[in-house]
Amino acid sequence: PKWVYAFAAGYVDGRANMTELLGGKGANLAEMASLGLPVPPGFTITTKVCDAYYALGRKLPEGLKPQVEKAIRLVGDEVGAAFGDVNRPLLVSVRSGARASMPGMMDTILNLGLNDETVEGLAKRSGDRRFAYDSYRRFIQMYADVVLGVDHGVFEDLLENFKNLNALSSDTELTAENWAEIIEEYKQAVQDNLGRPFPQDTNEQLYGAIAAVFGSWQNARANTYRRLHDIPDSWGTAVTVQAMVFGNLGESSATGVAFTRNPSTGAKEIYGEFLINAQGEDVVAGIRTPQPLTEMARREAKEEAPSLELLMPKVFAGLASVFERLEKHYRDMQDIEFTIENGKLWMLQTRSGKRTAEASLRIAVDLAEDGVLSKSEAVMRVNPSALDQLLHPTLDPDAKKDVLTTGLPASPGAASGEIVFTADDAEAERAHGHEVILVRLETSPEDIHGMHAAAGILTARGGMTSHAAVVARGMGRPCVSGAGALRIDPKAGTLQVGSHKLKKGDVITIDGSTGQVLLGRAKMREPKLSGAFATLMGWADAERRMRVRTNADTPRDARQARDFGAEGIGLCRTEHMFFDAERILAVRQMILADDTNGRRAALAKILPMQRTDFEQLFEIMAGLPTTVRLLDPPLHEFLPNNPDEVPAIAADLGVPPDKLRQRIAQLSEFNPMLGFRGCRLAILFPEIPEMQARAIFEAAVAVEKKTGQRAKLEIMVPLVAYRDEFTILRGVILRTGAAVEKETGAKLDYSIGTMIELPRAALRAGEVAEGDDGAAFFSFGTNDLTQTTLGLSRDDAAPILEAYAHQKIFAVDPFVSIDVEGVGELVRIGVERGRAVKPGLKVGICGEHGGDPKSIAFFDSVGLDYVSCSPYRVPIARLAAAQASI
Ligand code: ADP
Ligand code: MG
Ligand code: MG
Repeated sequence: PKWVYAFAAGYVDGRANMTELLGGKGANLAEMASLGLPVPPGFTITTKVCDAYYALGRKLPEGLKPQVEKAIRLVGDEVGAAFGDVNRPLLVSVRSGARASMPGMMDTILNLGLNDETVEGLAKRSGDRRFAYDSYRRFIQMYADVVLGVDHGVFEDLLENFKNLNALSSDTELTAENWAEIIEEYKQAVQDNLGRPFPQDTNEQLYGAIAAVFGSWQNARANTYRRLHDIPDSWGTAVTVQAMVFGNLGESSATGVAFTRNPSTGAKEIYGEFLINAQGEDVVAGIRTPQPLTEMARREAKEEAPSLELLMPKVFAGLASVFERLEKHYRDMQDIEFTIENGKLWMLQTRSGKRTAEASLRIAVDLAEDGVLSKSEAVMRVNPSALDQLLHPTLDPDAKKDVLTTGLPASPGAASGEIVFTADDAEAERAHGHEVILVRLETSPEDIHGMHAAAGILTARGGMTSHAAVVARGMGRPCVSGAGALRIDPKAGTLQVGSHKLKKGDVITIDGSTGQVLLGRAKMREPKLSGAFATLMGWADAERRMRVRTNADTPRDARQARDFGAEGIGLCRTEHMFFDAERILAVRQMILADDTNGRRAALAKILPMQRTDFEQLFEIMAGLPTTVRLLDPPLHEFLPNNPDEVPAIAADLGVPPDKLRQRIAQLSEFNPMLGFRGCRLAILFPEIPEMQARAIFEAAVAVEKKTGQRAKLEIMVPLVAYRDEFTILRGVILRTGAAVEKETGAKLDYSIGTMIELPRAALRAGEVAEGDDGAAFFSFGTNDLTQTTLGLSRDDAAPILEAYAHQKIFAVDPFVSIDVEGVGELVRIGVERGRAVKPGLKVGICGEHGGDPKSIAFFDSVGLDYVSCSPYRVPIARLAAAQASI
């Protein structure tokens, strides 16, 4: 088999699209060489050899050597040298390079081919003894560390000692003779550590290095990196062997790294650093401070050291024109490594550069405006999930950090505020104009108002899909969950973390993007949406088929979502409106009422409040479609779950505490998720949906009177499994609508549909939708549909999800990204059966998945009309829906 692919000025075996075989580095070196750019000649050993290496129990396969020998002879011919030759030695680097870039995770060895004899040849040929010995000692140190496993600290200590003994302070002061002495000490150290000498045979060096680079695919760093970035273990690395060029040949030599555009802002400017008289790794290692490439950057950084532009104007101009060619060729911003040897430029690496979300937008838009990309290509270039970074305030990267502890990065963005321990305190402090962080052991639906009032949420328990995490993401509040080191005492109003004892009112900062909890107020950056953001979103909107709505229950969320481009409300959950401190009393009175009349009396108090809520929402939505869901959660969620609170609440309600206790006991459920909720509640207590429908209709009438705009209402019945459930509640809503029309003389514009969130509803979708009196629309409630399909309660799933992810039973968390094969199949069936009886049936989705790009691609494929997601995910959904259409 062909295991070795050569690249040199005259002949190139590989191409940029061969990354699978040659790794990113090898493929792009080949591509640059074929473009005629100055690339030191070399060859790449394929990832297939990596497979073979592991299959053979970490041995290089038979038959590799002849191919390598031939290739390295050609490399030598190219540069007028020969590998292992004493007089004109060829030196090479042995470089790792996987299909996906894994910067710095695997090993690379430079200056290979040096031994006690070839070092003399190198000294003579270069006319620079010091350079030759410096290169040799670098090689021994690197090789001993990477291939032989001698800790590099051993060598650093020896060098340090030597400098101390000889009163030398920096490496540059060392002479050739000094390095020669150090080399002897290094070799002795290898002998002492391994019981055998440093290999003098250059072939032994070469194959040792090749095997070590293949071996580094499985080192701990690389394994961790792959796990974090979803890179399969099976890919393997390629190995590139390449003639050395020397940036350490004196003052007209240098080495550097550059981006063709600014990777944090996306600005079209060369961005990078270099070091005079240095070798590759020195720039990254931070031994000396690198200098900026351009004069502009130097001035901005108020840097003393001159730029490359000033020092070597010709080389700089050459570099700039190479950058331009590479960008044009790859049609993307590039991240580049280069070396200058005696005033001549050499290219050592190019790849698409990593960038911030902000830069990603700007670069995509600039490239499209320059005609390099089409608009739809530009839309495809931006990762929708990355937009999340832009939509929230973030920690200033230069901020001083006093880290108390780290939890899970549950909801992105950063926030500072005073600590409060209860939702009520959060609301009260907020009302006084204080920014607060709500700190809880864990949160529950009763805390919603406090979560809304808080700038951020911190919990000691719970995972990435805990109540706190899900609600916080929905609201766009930063959240750190599961910070197990917190000792919270709400009664005493204290929070202990290690030796720090904080109390209510003390200021902390949480970073929901990293999970860090910081002491005090840290410096923040406000999100600022650039012109590029608006431009790209405009292009995205022109591409997408699906509409994007929002899940919003408050005027603040509705306004935010409209600012982000929402085209309606896909889910307004009315229960959140019930938790408000003032109203919950009336809600509890309703729950405690002994008969229908008692309930009606309590509901009559809630009606005007609900009406006001809806008026505000409808006014903001200004004629856009608005889906309101009838009350969904089980009633016990509105009753206190802390027995200590019972007497005071009973007193407020004017009932004996025992009565309240009795009702709590009556309503308690073993499995509330599958209990007395949704349409079941409405069917047993029809006066509740009646009140809600009335509030909705009266609000619509009032808004139309005020603004002239007629609300487009969609009233949604939750948790339907049977057609009859829908029919009964449709009747209640229609009767109420008719009554309101009669009382007000106004005309209402509304339709009645269902949430599809039980498997039975998806399976019987045809029956549910059939006829004019069937459901007028479906909205898939994929949160509950996932719970009910998997038989897995989201609130209890955290430990299971973790274990299942670890054992690869779940590829992704099914509450984050839809389980396409299972839950997705039910969605597909629901759509097909619904539309079979009612062509053109309007179908959307309103679960958390509505803001997840992977799920959005699936929803597009099954023909949904819209997705609905939390306000902060609206731009993400717009972009993801566009990408699904392209
Ligand atoms: P990484 O993937 O960690 O960046 P590289 O293989 O790119 O590892 O090499 C590390 C450093 O050595 C880089 O700065 C690179 O430019 C430099 N380098 C690699 N090969 C050569 C070579 N043949 N001549 C000069 N410098 C080289
Ligand atoms: Mg590199
Ligand atoms: Mg539901």
